[in-house]
Amino acid sequence: MSVPPLDRSTIWPYEDGEPGEFYYSRYGHPAGEHAERELGRLEGGTALLFSSGSGATTALVLALLEPGATIAVAEGCYYGTPVLFEELTRWGLRYVEFDQTGPPPDGVDLVWLEAPSNPLLTMPDLDAAAAHPAKVVVDSTAATPVYLRPLERGADLVLHSATKYLTGHHDVLLGAVVAKDDADAARLREFRGRTGITASPDAAWLLGRSLKTLELRMLKHTETAAEIARRLEGHDAVEVVRYPGFGGLLSFDVAGGADAARALERRLTRIENATSLGGVTSTLEWRGRWEGDRVPRGLLRLSVGLEPVEELWADLEQALRSR
Ligand code: PLP
Repeated sequence: MSVPPLDRSTIWPYEDGEPGEFYYSRYGHPAGEHAERELGRLEGGTALLFSSGSGATTALVLALLEPGATIAVAEGCYYGTPVLFEELTRWGLRYVEFDQTGPPPDGVDLVWLEAPSNPLLTMPDLDAAAAHPAKVVVDSTAATPVYLRPLERGADLVLHSATKYLTGHHDVLLGAVVAKDDADAARLREFRGRTGITASPDAAWLLGRSLKTLELRMLKHTETAAEIARRLEGHDAVEVVRYPGFGGLLSFDVAGGADAARALERRLTRIENATSLGGVTSTLEWRGRWEGDRVPRGLLRLSVGLEPVEELWADLEQALRSR
């Protein structure tokens, strides 16, 4: 079926007194099943949707770890991930940060990588992580299955903020975990149903719709972002450019630190000065606002959308020129 109907029911009547495949939407619904099948096929595992990327992270660590477990999390990853782990220390979770370009530390129960990390754009050493005895999660939000299939590279679980590239239009809040192991998938499904960290049918339906253009969008994001990164590198007002060579996410540091970065934000006319990333429209923000000293003071994160490259460059150039 090319366009599946959107069924918003929360209940489906029993058949001959027995619950069928769907009976109460907290446990599953047709739009969720459809989108999970498509995402699972792209990643090569069993996909489960959650109400947000952070909801997916919460479910993953609470369902698959025990109190007292330690997570080794990539330094410089999406800052909300260690903030969430910190919240869960009250429940006995522990975490340590490590440089994901090398091997994870010994004695941890879960390895949490991000490919590429947001906003420092490092890539994990997947071989070193796969050689570690603990399970390995790759937050592959910025890579997407178009550029990386972590389960084929030794990871056990893939996490997505599907709010970003997978849905891609800045209009859906959604998360996903893709598991290699059937037992992990079953445990996550059980935990999701019990806690209700469930995706809505509308969000799931939009994921199914958006996955049809994922590859095309990612190729265009890459083409434009690579050109913008190249031009930024040659600009006098830019000190550092970080771009992994694929995808639409990059970051750069402007000379003049936080004040210069904040002034640049306000001079933009085409690129939206907003948080988040992965949408068809470009977004830029000074990350120091949220992350403080965790990132260089002049760091701006740019998510390159699908606008014509010359329009984006003209906006960046005028914003950089009027310093
Ligand atoms: N992982 C990464 C890499 C992210 O960038 C984000 C959000 O910015 C998240 C996870 C959390 O996802 P959500 O905002 O959908 O809860």
